[in-house]
Amino acid sequence: MGNKQTIFTDEQFEAYQDCTFFTRKEILRLHARYRELAPHLVPMDYTNEPDIKLPMALIISMPELQENPFRNRIVETFSEDGEGNLSFNDFVDMFSVLCETAPRELKTIYAFKIYDFNVDNFICKEDMEKTLTKLTKGELTPEEVNLVCDKAIEEADLDGDSKLSFADFENMISKAPDFLSTFHIRI
Ligand code: CA
Repeated sequence: MGNKQTIFTDEQFEAYQDCTFFTRKEILRLHARYRELAPHLVPMDYTNEPDIKLPMALIISMPELQENPFRNRIVETFSEDGEGNLSFNDFVDMFSVLCETAPRELKTIYAFKIYDFNVDNFICKEDMEKTLTKLTKGELTPEEVNLVCDKAIEEADLDGDSKLSFADFENMISKAPDFLSTFHIRI
């Protein structure tokens, strides 16, 4: 057996442990998962923080994400370049928020970003319709989606502007926990 390969320095491990909900072992597993998506691109040695990003198409092909109706929006939301490419740090941040130990408040912040399809910091009726259609996987007719969204907005929109601010959304989520159900992913 040869020498054990160094993947991260102790400082890097400590930084990941400070900023995520993962242990060292889990960080190593995430690195292995990231690397297996593109072994010719992603190096084993990350001690010099290589500037590598993987495209969305590769990330959403992972079994943990491929069935998730929000996979594209999830990846986009964590992509620092905004184009859906994920660096290893973006990748770790994404699975940290999605993991079961991440607090509900944090998941709510990201769920709001993910459901805000047109990225204007409000959940408008159109965002809500897209969200509900994805959540119910086409089980509701467009009329039913329309009706449910009208009712949800009417109930949650506390300042009467017909769209949901983050505060309105937080309030809605507390009564309808299903809205967070697609944001628990074990990797
Ligand atoms: Ca919006």
